Amino acid sequence: MIVMKFGGTSVGSTDAIAQVADIVAEKVQEQAQTDRPGVVVVTSAMSGVTNTLIHAAQAAAAGDEGPYREARGQLLVKHQVVAGQLIEDGVERAALGRLLDDRLREFERLCRSIAVLGELTDRGLDVVSGLGERLSAPLLAAVLRARGVKAQFVDAGQIVVTDNVHGGAAPRMGPTTQRVQDRIRPMVESGVVPVITGFVGATEEGVPTTLGRGGSDYSAAIIGAALDVDEIQIWTDVDGVLTADPRIVPNARSLPELSYEEVAELAYYGAKVLHPKTVTPAVEKKIPLRVLNTFNPSHPGTRILAARESNGRGGVKAITAIRDMNLITVAGRGMMGVPGIAARTFGSVAREQANVLMISQSSSEQSICFVVPNSSAARVLKALEEEFERELHRRYIERIWDQKEIVIVAVVGSGMKGTPGIAARVFNALGEENINVIAIAQGASEANISLVVTDGDAAAAVRAIHDAFQLHQMLEPAQPAR
Ligand code: ADP
Ligand code: ASP
Ligand code: MG
Repeated sequence: MIVMKFGGTSVGSTDAIAQVADIVAEKVQEQAQTDRPGVVVVTSAMSGVTNTLIHAAQAAAAGDEGPYREARGQLLVKHQVVAGQLIEDGVERAALGRLLDDRLREFERLCRSIAVLGELTDRGLDVVSGLGERLSAPLLAAVLRARGVKAQFVDAGQIVVTDNVHGGAAPRMGPTTQRVQDRIRPMVESGVVPVITGFVGATEEGVPTTLGRGGSDYSAAIIGAALDVDEIQIWTDVDGVLTADPRIVPNARSLPELSYEEVAELAYYGAKVLHPKTVTPAVEKKIPLRVLNTFNPSHPGTRILAARESNGRGGVKAITAIRDMNLITVAGRGMMGVPGIAARTFGSVAREQANVLMISQSSSEQSICFVVPNSSAARVLKALEEEFERELHRRYIERIWDQKEIVIVAVVGSGMKGTPGIAARVFNALGEENINVIAIAQGASEANISLVVTDGDAAAAVRAIHDAFQLHQMLEPAQPAR
């Protein structure tokens, strides 16, 4: 039994959806030959749809009702065009058309009330942004039926139970597993392919939530773990996890194999190919993940498993970068004499629930530097100024400030720990390109060396390190096709 998750571009057009239907149909047959057959499909919204929904809701809150009115018609057409081309049965097409129309009316009603209130709450945003999957999943289920696959649409709001942290909810695995076992397993065992909405869930009380942007990968892993499947497949638009973002490094290559830890580091530090939390449910059940290309399905992609001997030259496997960060510094010559500054600094940051991506080693001992997302920097600065009001007044602490538009570049590979000289090679490569390293990480995972550069230097830094470790060259023979 496997879970197959299809991303936004994989369901982004008629041709792509037709391709997905072929891939699923083939997999269903292949699975039928195994002793634990079954396929569960998880889908994203069609590409661009989540953004359209969010922008329309935000515009409505700001009093502009044009975007949602326009989006309603546009989204109906976008989905109906696919249905018109891939579903011949008129009855099936009409039923789907009604469902799409109902959903989009609901969208319009929601946006109208957002406009009346002049306010968009996180809870309201979750209802709107999750609608894209509630359009694409019934469409894909109908296309699969038209292709001869017994498929049935399932709304994850009925099965993925989460906490109430809107915009980034966490699953409650106990009740989720119960519901998946009760509702999904019997479907699969009777030969039906459930087509489940990614990205969305609901609280125990039934209030819709989302798992955060890009969260359909996480949905697939949650459902896969709840079913204890044999493999979780993430079907996307590249040949697996690459040595770097192909938009930055055009000659990046596909990595045949990575450990859970390595992929978690890559995803956390900005490699968009997987949602950062995807590995968590998989690791606990030791379920292998595989990242595959919908548009090149015979490519073996990347297999993600528990750690094994590193096979990368020098241990470096991939480079990633995460943008829109701020480097916050607390500095002052009097800091040394005042105990507990670090504890109070991070205590304040924690109270603001800001995510610290990196704590860096500064050249002087009289400062503390750390990196937070730009979106939480202002709150953190204010909290620190309040916390250290007295020290600032007495000039024990001279300044608390942030540097904006910085990027964390992370060099990832679990084999790095046993290999001397990696950091030196990284810094040499950057030095040769005249790239100024603002800070380096302290105490990051052993699978990761991270450093801070300006936004303007980030792409060159990634390319320089990629070149220095010659990651574009194949490091091990390609695996046989699936
Ligand atoms: P999906 O819609 O299938 O979830 P995403 O757009 O979320 O796809 O993620 C896939 C994209 O991630 C790729 O098209 C690629 O541009 C980008 N990407 C960034 N870093 C990497 C990387 N290291 N390996 C593969 N893809 C990456
Ligand atoms: N549709 C959602 C998003 O765009 C979730 C996903 O694609 O994974 O963020
Ligand atoms: Mg994605």
